[in-house]
Formats: sequence, structure tokens, C-alpha cells
Amino acid sequence: MLRVALVLFVFAWIFGPRELRSAVPVWIVFLIALGLEVHFFAGALRRTPPPLPDRRPQTVDRERYGYAEEAGDLLLVREGDEELWIPYSGERDDEVDVLIATMREQLDDDAPVTATSAERRPLWPAVRRFLTGLGVIAVLALVLWFVEGRTGWDSVDGDTRAEAVARFSDEASRIAEKPVTIRCDESRDYVGLVQHADGVAAVGGDRAYLTPERCHDLYRLAFDGEVTSSQTARALAVLAHEAWHLRGVSDEGTTECYALQSGVTLGQRLGLSEGTARQMMRQQLTENALRARGAFEYLVPPECRDGGRLDLDRGDTRFP
Ligand SMILES: [Zn+2]
Repeated sequence: MLRVALVLFVFAWIFGPRELRSAVPVWIVFLIALGLEVHFFAGALRRTPPPLPDRRPQTVDRERYGYAEEAGDLLLVREGDEELWIPYSGERDDEVDVLIATMREQLDDDAPVTATSAERRPLWPAVRRFLTGLGVIAVLALVLWFVEGRTGWDSVDGDTRAEAVARFSDEASRIAEKPVTIRCDESRDYVGLVQHADGVAAVGGDRAYLTPERCHDLYRLAFDGEVTSSQTARALAVLAHEAWHLRGVSDEGTTECYALQSGVTLGQRLGLSEGTARQMMRQQLTENALRARGAFEYLVPPECRDGGRLDLDRGDTRFP
């Protein structure tokens, strides 16, 4: 069940909406799956209960006392919380008392034997299940690595990537009004893991990092003219957002408001028509309220409107 869920998730991650990719770092899912496998395996190792003690006399005892064939004729005698099985073949009461005394001695001598003879549950099925689980995880990781290498930012060759990054840096420098550098954080040291963001920049700094997904979206737009509506729009907004941080704006809502306005020109410079660029940034503004849920600092302020305090071009009645 767990493995089916993992397989489905990884395939959804590869072929499903990009939003899933940027929302959930896939390595966390692998880590959880691995943790569960280890957990189940450890549980299986611990869960080796001793079999319920056979409360009838042991075969060896029956043989010793010559009652091997008469297991059915056993008399259960309870004394306090003790239970004794007495071989019974029509003895009188006083004879039974003697038998009880004999059995009790016998029980005291043999009690530890019963405990140590408890059979251990075989270990192999648990080990096999665990190894199968590890195998499934390893194969999925391999598939993911293979697919990623062919379709993502990593599939773009090194020279082209360098060219693309130089282009992104130029565009960001225009918005920041100073020379800045954009990096695509392939190693995910800065974005995508901890910050849960598409990009990161120091306010007033000269370098910003974007996730490989966003870099790839921008690359596809600028170099291949490919547009995947919401992803392309988001990538433009992210690049403009980080550029505004580099320019010195720290407030997240204000930064985003400026970014969505700059995103129109940025989109046009990277190959969109003005109409499409405006429509994309308006869409981003509409979605801002949804995205900002749970992270209020990213919500654009009410002044982010045509003619508002944050309107960068008050002479223009279009916004963004
Ligand atoms: Zn920001």
C-alpha cells in the first residue's frame, strides 16, 4: 500500500502539474518512504512474541510418566492461580493428592525449559520485505534521476545555460538599476529546500538565486519561445521579485507589487506580446491572494492598484 502510494506520487511528480514540483521537494517524499520502511522493518523484528505456552503436560513428561497414550485422560486441578494437569485414570481422591504433589515438584523443575523452547519467528520474510521496499525506492530514484536529466534545467547543455543565466542577469540588472547576477541554484543550497521559495536574494545585494524549475521556465520562454501559461508567468514574477529585492526593497508585499508591474516589460523583452504579458501579470496579482494564504507578508498591500501609492506608472490606467 505504502509502495503503491510512493510510485503514484513519484509519477504524479514527474508528469503532473508543475505546482506539485515546486510545492513538495521530492527528496522529502523519498526520505519519508525510507523512514517508513525502516520503521516497519524494526517493528517486524521487535514483534516476535513467544508462542502461547502449551499448558498441557509436555510430551517428555507424559512419556516419562507413561501417559503418552492417555493425553485425553488429564485432570485439570486449580489451586489458587496455579493450574496442574494430572494424568487421571480412575484414582481415588487420596491418590490424586499424591499425583498433584508429584506434578508440582515436576513443574518447579521444568518450568524454565518451557520458556527457552519458545520457537523464534523466522526473520527472513521481514528482511525480504524490507529489501523489496529498498529496491522499489532505489528504482524510483533512478527513474526520477533519468527523467530529470532529460527534461529539466539539467538537460540544457552547459554553454546554453551560461548564456541563459547571463540573459537573466541582464534583465534583473535593468530592474535593479545596477549590475546584478542571477544564479540558477542547481545544488538547491539556497532555494527550494528550506525557504520553500522559488528564489532568494539579499535585500540591496548583487546576487540572487532561482530554482532550476524557474530558470528552465525562463529559458524556454527566452530561447525557445515556449510558454506554459501559469509557470511562465510565475517565473517572470519571481525573477522581477528578486531583482526588486536587489534594488533594495525589503517588504515582501511591496516587492511583489513592483515585480508584477515590472513583469510586463520583462515578459515583453523575453518574447511575449504586451497583451499576453499584462494578462499574465494580472493573473499573478489575482492569484497572489490565494498564494499568500498562510504567509501574509507576501500579500500585496491595498495600495497595489491603479493610481495607488505603489503604482509605478500613475499616468497609465492599465495595472499591472
Ligand atoms: Zn521576496
